[in-house]
Amino acid sequence: MKKDDCIFCRIANGEIPSKTLYEDRDFRVILDLGPATKGHALILPKEHAADLYELPEELAASVFVLAKKMAVRMTERLQCDGMNLVQNNGEAAGQTVSHFHVHIIPRYAGDGQKISWVPGKPAQEELEAVKRQIAE
Ligand code: AMP
Ligand code: ZN
Repeated sequence: MKKDDCIFCRIANGEIPSKTLYEDRDFRVILDLGPATKGHALILPKEHAADLYELPEELAASVFVLAKKMAVRMTERLQCDGMNLVQNNGEAAGQTVSHFHVHIIPRYAGDGQKISWVPGKPAQEELEAVKRQIAE
């Protein structure tokens, strides 16, 4: 279902114009209006899902296949040196638009952008406790 007050629903369904790179029954891929680098694109499902938690499994599966196709094509066309796929869920994780999307960010040697974190140094016991929390 599409949500009338959701900007990405409206873009994905063609009600608001966008720089569309690709479209099929389920998805539209557009250029990000505030690109991290040249070619920064967003994959938007046409159906509304706020985030990964709400995304139907079939779309979760097919979005990665599409991300791969776009990454290959964009790398050929843009001659970039690498590619980041970024997908934020929730405000704490940096999500600013509450409609699931995958960022495809072409990377160029020396582009000065950073997608990074400060690595922790957990003790083995800590890792073991987290493993148990998730896996058991
Ligand atoms: P996120 O922080 O993961 O929610 O990313 C939202 C992204 O959407 C940002 O990179 C914005 O630059 C981008 N964005 C917001 N509004 C638009 C729009 N109308 N068209 C294209 N990109 C947009
Ligand atoms: Zn939406």
